[in-house]
Amino acid sequence: MTDLKNFEIWFVTGSQHLYGEETLKNVARHTEEIAKALDASEHIPVQVKYKGVVTTSDQIFKVCEQVNNEPKCIGMVAWMHTFSPAKMWISGLQVLRKPMAHFHTQFNDEIPWSEIDMDFMNENQSAHGGREFGFMVSRLRKNRKVIVGHWKNEECRKQLGNWSRVAAGWHAFQNLKVARIGDNMRNVAVTEGDKVEAQMRFGFQVNTWGIGDVVAFVNQVSDAEVEKLVKTYSDEYEITSEVLKSQSLRDSARIELGLRAFLEDGGFGAFTDTFEDLHGMKQLPGIAAQRLMADGYGFAGEGDWKTSALVYASKVMAQGLKGGTSFMEDYTYDFRKDRSRVLGSHMLEICPTIAEGSVRCEVHPLGIGGKEDPARLVFTAGAGPAVNAALMDMGNRFRLLVNEVDAVKPDQELPKLPVASVLWDPKPNLEIAAQTWILAGGAHHTVYSRAINTQFFEDFADMADIELLVIDEDTKVRSFKDNLRWNEVYYHLF
Ligand code: MN
Repeated sequence: MTDLKNFEIWFVTGSQHLYGEETLKNVARHTEEIAKALDASEHIPVQVKYKGVVTTSDQIFKVCEQVNNEPKCIGMVAWMHTFSPAKMWISGLQVLRKPMAHFHTQFNDEIPWSEIDMDFMNENQSAHGGREFGFMVSRLRKNRKVIVGHWKNEECRKQLGNWSRVAAGWHAFQNLKVARIGDNMRNVAVTEGDKVEAQMRFGFQVNTWGIGDVVAFVNQVSDAEVEKLVKTYSDEYEITSEVLKSQSLRDSARIELGLRAFLEDGGFGAFTDTFEDLHGMKQLPGIAAQRLMADGYGFAGEGDWKTSALVYASKVMAQGLKGGTSFMEDYTYDFRKDRSRVLGSHMLEICPTIAEGSVRCEVHPLGIGGKEDPARLVFTAGAGPAVNAALMDMGNRFRLLVNEVDAVKPDQELPKLPVASVLWDPKPNLEIAAQTWILAGGAHHTVYSRAINTQFFEDFADMADIELLVIDEDTKVRSFKDNLRWNEVYYHLF
């Protein structure tokens, strides 16, 4: 995963020649000061590059082309310091292919009541300059982020910083190769989808590799490498001496090393596997998938390439943030008289970045797949606000569905559960959340994250130009159903 510090967002300021050289010099000076302050902000993880003041169609077209062509640049921030007649922006915006944030800010903050004159007004006219620009972007039907507020405001900087994280996730999507090891779990519907359409829409490539291609790497792993990784397991996790001595743990370690080598060799950022295609493998990868996810790889089980890709992008967005991000599945309900909850888990592969408390490395039989007993990391996740997000192929479009939840501490220990788990209380409650999720055709596999929130996915859906549906505190079933109907019409028209 590329460090976010290596990415740039370009700060471009719109103006015009009407005001004379003196004003334009001030505009340039102000822009540089703002860009430098944003670059230094702890809330913005990427570099903010000052790219000057543009005052003509040619200049605007040129800078938009440069944004497209500079590999390190993941998006453009546009600010209208003064009035920038927006017909000048048409040709540039028409070719701009990277995400854009319109920072609707102003150099000055509060009005200097006793001193304000017309020169001041002309130098601080973002209020209407930003509207002229906004009209043109809307007239071109271009998605973009609009951030409003003074540039010294922490909240604005956070919004811009989070948008830059999403732009990095979007950039990562363009360059992602997903290895689909084996095909889909037989007869499962939601994990299927149009991979050609996905590549056209999202940029990432999904191709299939036979399990034998991974087995070839697994078989090349030396005993010494295996023992070294077993030592790492015993250093990092709670482990019994019985497990530590076992052949199963060594087989799991060998699978992790082989799988990791396979992914590195192919330049893959995400992968899927399926328990129905494990010829030549002793076990379904358990601890391997968990630890690879913790290192930033996208993963989802049963051939679910869409969720795997979304786990990867989410991990790019979440870099350096607290909370963790994992592949997840709604597993079991806790129906109660008051607030019912969901126990999320999978048969093995939950990412330990969401763990709180001890992480145990255990070996247990796996009920399905007919293979040997795999090692896995067992833990419970921390409490706090989180989201579940799923990406479905609805036939004529991709739908991104987000449910806001509160992760809660389990009431009791789960001594017999041999897998990692999270207990959550979905918003607005389980009954409405599950009803609307099911009406929306939401998948059983999700990305679960405590590091990123709904806003990230909203910005992401805008960048990808796909449908977004959110189930949150305000969700009402009837209006949600209307929303589904309206979207059905909208996406047939556009
Ligand atoms: Mn599953």
